[in-house]
Amino acid sequence: MRFSLLSVARQGLAGNEGWPEQWRSPEPKAAYDAIVVGAGGHGLGAAYYMAREHGLRNVAVLDKGWLGGGNTGRNTTIIRSNYLWEESEAIYEHAMKLWEGLAEELNYNVMYSARGVMMLAHNTHDVQSFQRHVAANQLAGIDNEWLTPQEAKAFCPILNIEKTIRYPIVGAALQRRGGTARHDAVAWGYARGADRLGVDIIQNCEVKGIRRDASGAVAGVETTKGFIATKKLGVVAAGNTSVVMGMAGVRMPLESYPLQALVSEPVKPIMPCVVMSNTIHAYMSQSDKGEMVIGAGTDAYTSYSQTGGLHIANHTLDAICELFPVVRRLRMLRNWGGIVDVTPDRSPIIGKTPVPGLFVNCGWGTGGFKATPGSAHVFAHTVATGEPHPIAAPSISIASAPGG
Ligand SMILES: Cc1cc2nc3c(=O)[nH]c(=O)nc-3n(C[C@H](O)[C@H](O)[C@H](O)COP(=O)(O)OP(=O)(O)OC[C@H]3O[C@@H](n4cnc5c(N)ncnc54)[C@H](O)[C@@H]3O)c2cc1C
Repeated sequence: MRFSLLSVARQGLAGNEGWPEQWRSPEPKAAYDAIVVGAGGHGLGAAYYMAREHGLRNVAVLDKGWLGGGNTGRNTTIIRSNYLWEESEAIYEHAMKLWEGLAEELNYNVMYSARGVMMLAHNTHDVQSFQRHVAANQLAGIDNEWLTPQEAKAFCPILNIEKTIRYPIVGAALQRRGGTARHDAVAWGYARGADRLGVDIIQNCEVKGIRRDASGAVAGVETTKGFIATKKLGVVAAGNTSVVMGMAGVRMPLESYPLQALVSEPVKPIMPCVVMSNTIHAYMSQSDKGEMVIGAGTDAYTSYSQTGGLHIANHTLDAICELFPVVRRLRMLRNWGGIVDVTPDRSPIIGKTPVPGLFVNCGWGTGGFKATPGSAHVFAHTVATGEPHPIAAPSISIASAPGG
């Protein structure tokens, strides 16, 4: 059923009893043309684009838990594309363009809100680094602008720009098209869209092994619901990527860390934008319900637990209370953690692997929510065609590189 003013009115008048299930809960088939491991936004989105753009309809997405229960449903939903390097600009801007039309594309309100993302500079290093970003982004046609502390305060009136505070604000970079989206709705919207195109979404189905044939190519997956055959396997398991890829004997350059977030009790609208401080690991925006949504830094130790150290959250709240004194007396309602997969250069990996038929999408670390539609779109191409999408392809192939 499509969502429209008419269907909402009709269902409302009938007591909202007639809404169908948004997606099926099928049992796995014996074999699929392609299987995606991980029903987060990236995995569900990849399955959706495989079906919609590449005609691959016999596809399953497997998750060991519930869909959207990984980092997709645990993040602080900041969306921006003002990254420095051309490769990063390309993938995040690709995502940004897809975000702008995603609700319409999926016929699902993902609540994308381009309210502006402001990144605070606290010292000379920050100023130099962010001004370099601003210049590089403007050259690439991506919006990003430099603000004085006074202009930053005009954009976010609850910001404390006193010069005497512990982390004084000496400027800020603002991407006005940046913002937030509703994380669950992104997973649900892609799930509903993929299901409608015939994709089987199988929850509570943990992948425990990857079976390879005599040639070494992927033959299928061992799961808690039995063996499922496939020749194309896309692993999109975020913090668990190393574990899943290890089942095929592939060692990934990843470390997994807990990253946590917390929300306050709801209050009336006080914050019109998103503010980030990378230097002191504190991020804040206000949800549509009124809660202040606060992001912290990663734990110092690797771990697979979906919770983080209390001292990390305390450190973040120290900084938040100083930057936004108005929130000092708010009570925090909930905190939680996710497991983020971090690469040595903090850049994601989307591509083929040495194992024929095995593809991987990972390394989004603390910042992959914003990439969801772009990453999914590019990964669908990679799995369906067997070759990297131009946006994720190496810019210089080894064969054509100088010297060989
Ligand atoms: C607290 C926090 C705040 C964040 N804030 C932001 C932010 O503001 N902006 C931003 O851009 N990014 C942010 N991120 C990062 C972002 O959430 C992730 O990069 C992104 O959501 C990753 O999506 P995904 O679909 O790849 O992974 P996930 O949503 O984690 O999905 C992976 C899925 O794989 C499943 N899985 C794992 N192992 C197996 C197995 N063996 N078998 C079957 N299924 C398996 C898991 O159950 C999980 O559902 C944040 C992350 C956290 C934790």
